[in-house]
Amino acid sequence: MAKKEHTPHNCTFCGRPENEVQVLITSPHAAICNDCLQNASLIMEEMFQREFDKPARHKAAEKLPKPREITAFLDQYVIGQDEAKKYLSVAVYNHYKRINQKQDEDVDLEKSNILLVGETGTGKTLLANTIARMLHVPFAIVDATVLTEAGYVGEDVESILARLLQNADYNVKAAEKGIVFIDELDKIARKSDNPSITRDVSGEGVQQGLLKLLEGSVVNVPPQGGRKHPEQKMISVNTKNILFICGGAFDGIERKIGQRLNTQMIGYGVVHKTAHIDRKNLLQYIAPSDLKSYGLIPEIVGRLPILTYLKPLDQQALRRILTEPKNAIVKQYTHLFKMDGVKLTFDEAALDLIVGKAVEFKIGARGLRSICEAIMIDAMYDFPSSDKKSLQITRDYAEEKLHRFSAQQKLNVA
Ligand code: ADP
Repeated sequence: MAKKEHTPHNCTFCGRPENEVQVLITSPHAAICNDCLQNASLIMEEMFQREFDKPARHKAAEKLPKPREITAFLDQYVIGQDEAKKYLSVAVYNHYKRINQKQDEDVDLEKSNILLVGETGTGKTLLANTIARMLHVPFAIVDATVLTEAGYVGEDVESILARLLQNADYNVKAAEKGIVFIDELDKIARKSDNPSITRDVSGEGVQQGLLKLLEGSVVNVPPQGGRKHPEQKMISVNTKNILFICGGAFDGIERKIGQRLNTQMIGYGVVHKTAHIDRKNLLQYIAPSDLKSYGLIPEIVGRLPILTYLKPLDQQALRRILTEPKNAIVKQYTHLFKMDGVKLTFDEAALDLIVGKAVEFKIGARGLRSICEAIMIDAMYDFPSSDKKSLQITRDYAEEKLHRFSAQQKLNVA
């Protein structure tokens, strides 16, 4: 005769009876109470966390890509900007070496946060994003313009970390080794030389707030971002090992650089160097003191020890951006059409026209996509319902499709 099953009335783990616990989950052979279930879940969480950390540490220690390898990876996605790539690769390599160094080593390696200075649309975000993708670390992009001093309308600086936490699926340990890209840092520069004239809500106050993130400290982060609500449970995040990459156009900083170079030129023994200065691209001579003249507080400048610049993209670079990167715009359209069984090709002259328009309307690399979209929209609408199997984008075709786009742009420019 089969043994009669009887449902247990006590927790199999702690032994407490049904009437002493809130919930008892039962099966024919075992039961678990709510407290034991919670403990089990915590144990599992810790185990997963350990598992997560193990490969990360392992990977970082053994497979940390060398600077040249980082640059080679960046080359696949970012055209030109060799100087910035070199600085960035070295800084990132050193940063992760620092994270992996043993606690008991004598030399304390300092954090190498980075500042990328260059016109908008030259690849600053793309560089930071590509590095994070390569290293498989959590990454967040934030705009410094939304940050304001605590107590004013806008976001607290802590919200930067909320974004990183969200992107790390709230895995605090992973977020603490992540990368944050802070764009438009120049917008929080002090507006006037005299800080006491007016309240500089989005300027020096925010810089002070940022400072504590950059230098490495334990910060209480509201997990949902935004303002701190008293009822919201905070998560402590240590920013010691978070790499901050800042970017900004710093419009007009060339004047400050020029002034400094001129002053230096007057000094003894340097007059002969005048001839070597490339006045057309002064950004390449950028130095920390220029950032101070621009309105960044010295402490912030000190916390961004790696300073490099991006060149404006010329016609040749834009042309390469269209076709060369791994996910170049032209490759993306070709792939989209291929998925419908259509062979799409672009004539060289059509590509030249696209680049020419981006230069004419001063919309840079970011504008290449909207120009292409204007050219391709009709075909993308019609082809899926037609039986045509190929499309060649000639200069004439592109010109015809761009009529309306050009008119719009001219209105924008006017
Ligand atoms: P920034 O952060 O300097 O304002 P982004 O990195 O956001 O500029 O660039 C905008 C877009 O332009 C990128 O998504 C990319 O498509 C393109 N782009 C800009 N610079 C480059 C570059 N050097 N190489 C390849 N693509 C670029």
